[in-house]
Amino acid sequence: MTIRLPSELVADGFAPPEKLADLARVAERYALAITPALAGLIDRSQPGDPIARQFVPDIAELTTTPDERADPIGDNAHSPLEGIVHRYPDRVLLKLVNVCAVYCRFCFRREMVGPGRKALSVHQLDAALGYIAAHPEIWEVILTGGDPLVLSARRLGEVMKRIAAVAHVKIVRLHTRVPVVSPEKVTPPLLRALKARGAATYVALHANHPRELTAAARAACARMVDAGIPMVSQSVLLRGVNDDAQTLDALMRAFVECRIKPYYLHHADLAPGTSHFRTTIAEGQALMRALRARLSGLAQPAYVLDIPGGYGKVPAGPQYVDMCGEAGAVVEDIAATKHRY
Ligand code: SF4
Repeated sequence: MTIRLPSELVADGFAPPEKLADLARVAERYALAITPALAGLIDRSQPGDPIARQFVPDIAELTTTPDERADPIGDNAHSPLEGIVHRYPDRVLLKLVNVCAVYCRFCFRREMVGPGRKALSVHQLDAALGYIAAHPEIWEVILTGGDPLVLSARRLGEVMKRIAAVAHVKIVRLHTRVPVVSPEKVTPPLLRALKARGAATYVALHANHPRELTAAARAACARMVDAGIPMVSQSVLLRGVNDDAQTLDALMRAFVECRIKPYYLHHADLAPGTSHFRTTIAEGQALMRALRARLSGLAQPAYVLDIPGGYGKVPAGPQYVDMCGEAGAVVEDIAATKHRY
């Protein structure tokens, strides 16, 4: 059974009884869910276990810093109607649901997701699909939310068909944690639902620590890739979870071994109550330099920052090329030696 209550966390030994009141205060504010697959991964004997840190509430979540905000990446500023975020000309987010299989303690949409949050109504979905159909510049539809893979295969299949039927939509991308946190849900009906005639489907898997890629998770990803669905990864750089080169190295290698192309390493957003997870950008850049020295290009993610306020996502470095003068440049190699070009 999925853990949803602080009392269950204590009863199962994920937190000591004296923490119950704190856990309850946090869970009142932000949703809690830990699937059996994840609960089985948590090492109760290890203080600061990187899986526990991602999913077990912490009283630090009730401390909001002045720079944190309810809508850290500015979805609302680009939402012409319920369920749609149209930030970049050729793609939209379509938020079908506002629930997830698990709730990450650092979630950038933590003010918007949780049990009881409504999915798009039939009318809202019709309007959202009407918006997509009326904008011929939309080439890619990204299903996010919420985790679209919490929907039944039947419902997801219906939506996929309707999106793929829009002639100018060529790509449907789904962002999910399900293959890792509930690998048993990657079933033949779900895989059939994900593929719709008229558009190519991509799945972006969210995972942050190599231990999340268990044998069951790897098998679920293999079923997806074998079904002809290309996968990319997205991870969040998180203090105390993956903010060291060795862990990131192992995570990126695990993705590539699973035929998942490392795609994004997100700098943690300014979501409320998440400052204990955030590194500095300089730390992120140093880690990317370390990865560049350790991993092949196939295993390199892009380190990206969503500019607060809704101004979009940009590469956050590091820079290897400094332009100097009209045509010249100074280029740094992976050992930090500078060369004139
Ligand atoms: S799965 Fe994504 S949307 Fe859901 S809680 Fe985690 S980060 Fe947030």
